[in-house]
Amino acid sequence: MAIVIRTAKEIARMRRSGIALRGVLDTLRASIAPGMTTMDLEEIAEAKIKEAGAISAFKGYHDFPCVLCTSVNSEVVHGIPSAQRVLREGDIVSIDCGLIIDKYYADSAITLPVGKIAGQAQQLLEATEKSLQAAIAVVRAGATLGDVGAAVQEVVESAGFSVVRDFVGHGIGTVMHEEPQIPNYGRRGQGIKLREGMVLAIEPMVNAGQHSVRVLEDGWTAVTVDGSLSAHFEHTIAVMAEGAEVLTA
Ligand code: MG
Ligand code: MG
Repeated sequence: MAIVIRTAKEIARMRRSGIALRGVLDTLRASIAPGMTTMDLEEIAEAKIKEAGAISAFKGYHDFPCVLCTSVNSEVVHGIPSAQRVLREGDIVSIDCGLIIDKYYADSAITLPVGKIAGQAQQLLEATEKSLQAAIAVVRAGATLGDVGAAVQEVVESAGFSVVRDFVGHGIGTVMHEEPQIPNYGRRGQGIKLREGMVLAIEPMVNAGQHSVRVLEDGWTAVTVDGSLSAHFEHTIAVMAEGAEVLTA
């Protein structure tokens, strides 16, 4: 399947989706506190998505039941919000959300601290976010997917953490997961060349320990095999001639 090149008009529509999604995640960042459940976060997000005139990209996707993925501590991605999952001081929660406005998608994730967190957890959050920023910084027409993966991997591994291999970023547009796949590891200069108008969801998933993950019996929740903490940051970006425009910033 070919990689879609979006027109300026399409990117403008995706910018609208991105801004709405940023509003959802900013509200969750301002709301999260010890004692809340991950279902509380889900309900806040569902109301904000509706208020923005958007629809969830996640709910119903392969029968996923919620508008958010909430992945706590050693959960990597695809955790399902639950009224039984109470957040405690010191937890970290990866929150992934996707929405659609007028057929155009946006996809973004953040990992939030719950109250005060331990030093290692803080370092993990900082390294993961920094790796996403490093990846975005190398994006421009003519850069390669290997440049993007290498940028993530260098930041993560120099901080002593591991890049998850089993899940990758993706193209995005009028479908949530389009070509190409975007690994968070790679070699500079390798892989396909980026072109102006490509829209990509870049999303490093980083484990404090080893990179291996497994999926729980619910068929969704991915966890670290070694029980170490995991973090996830994601932006939807448009490739421009001289750089990247972050649509979900
Ligand atoms: Mg996502
Ligand atoms: Mg994604």
